[in-house]
Amino acid sequence: MGKGGVGVIRISGPNLRQFIKKLLGRDLIPRHAHYLPFPGADQTVLDYGIALYFQAPASYTGEDILELQGHGGPAVLRILLAHCLEVGKAYGLRLANAGEFTLRAFLNDKIDLAQAEAIADLIDANSTAAAKAAAASLSGRFSEEVTRLIEDLVELRILVEATLDFPEEEIEFIEKYQVRSRLETVYSKLCETLEIAKQSRFLREGLKVVLAGQPNVGKSSLMNALFDQDIAIVTDIAGTTRDSIRETLNLDGVPVTVTDTAGLRDATDQIEMIGIERSWAEIRSADVILNVMDSRHPVSVLDPTLHGDVLKGKILLNVLNKVDLIDSSSEPFQSSGTVRVSAKTRKGLDSLRQAILDASGRTLGEASPWLGRERHIQAMQAALEHLELARDHARLNDAVLDLLAEELRLCHDQLGEITGRMTSDDLLGRIFSSFCIGK
Ligand code: GDP
Ligand code: ZN
Repeated sequence: MGKGGVGVIRISGPNLRQFIKKLLGRDLIPRHAHYLPFPGADQTVLDYGIALYFQAPASYTGEDILELQGHGGPAVLRILLAHCLEVGKAYGLRLANAGEFTLRAFLNDKIDLAQAEAIADLIDANSTAAAKAAAASLSGRFSEEVTRLIEDLVELRILVEATLDFPEEEIEFIEKYQVRSRLETVYSKLCETLEIAKQSRFLREGLKVVLAGQPNVGKSSLMNALFDQDIAIVTDIAGTTRDSIRETLNLDGVPVTVTDTAGLRDATDQIEMIGIERSWAEIRSADVILNVMDSRHPVSVLDPTLHGDVLKGKILLNVLNKVDLIDSSSEPFQSSGTVRVSAKTRKGLDSLRQAILDASGRTLGEASPWLGRERHIQAMQAALEHLELARDHARLNDAVLDLLAEELRLCHDQLGEITGRMTSDDLLGRIFSSFCIGK
């Protein structure tokens, strides 16, 4: 508990009225700000503050809520909280678990699961763009999109399941109700939503960028130049950076984590060898690899034919550093995956920042309509796979309607998990335990 201008104690539960009367010695009018003395033990007045009562179901959790806003010194709040717990014992009052207020809001249908997650994301947001996108998710924009997909799907399911009873008309049915084109429509909408979710994930989780290259090409210098400060040690001695150094940068609202690594070469020094091992691990887990080379004699340590498995699914940007050391007439021709910079003169740094964002193929942060999570992406990907199978079953000359129906049902299950209309307790536990207490 920190020190603040105002400290708030929130109590939620069914039927708080009796407790309120016992604690404050009076009834409260719902949604009115009451300025009154807060009691301590033995009839003493502990603090003067504002008490708010929200009557079920018109509250955050959907239950009765009492909010006590006091002056917020940690000692006063602690005594007031202890007193509430003491008085509330008879009414079953206890401390809330992490995320329990939001969990109750979800269980009482005040918000759906994707919105509950958006609350956690909003609290955790470390950039304006991420906060805006989380707020949009919280307002239900993402949930609406998923719900529309589910509605389209349900319409299809009703058609298919109704026809299951009349097997001899299967083919006719597929044509008559344009099942194939309906399937295509749902499919392309789902693809679109999935794409946005994937892009918005970077807003929350950030983009992982790694600087890789031979020793002495200027990786550490570039790291320092990108952040405009001395983070990594720069020397002429090859093999100086032996461990990975990591720092987060805010690029247009997107958190970008840049990691400087030990230069890749055939080392004999034990410590340097361990550093090089770590470099490869960093490269493996990155989204974007900056393949740094010395402009004077560019040598790539990454070879697509040799390191295909490492580079798979990653963005590789060739960065030719030290352009200040070559005369411009001898500069190699420009190509799209290559940026030419000088960590020393800072030439080309803006282009490099832009290239990092562009290469990740994302619309910039501000444009993200809502914030997706890994969980949503996985559910949508699974839903998409079932839709693909459903398409196969609808495409065959003798379409198999019961298999088609089954794939549509499985697809529906997956999408339902996103908004939590059908979610296992296990999953709920995982989602709400990541909240902090009192939310
Ligand atoms: P690393 O081993 O790849 O991390 O390389 P460093 O950043 O330690 O740099 C190695 C040497 O190259 C240092 O002496 C730097 O001052 C020098 N250096 C780095 N970038 C540039 C550049 O853009 N221009 C010039 N002229 N020298 C550079
Ligand atoms: Zn270095």
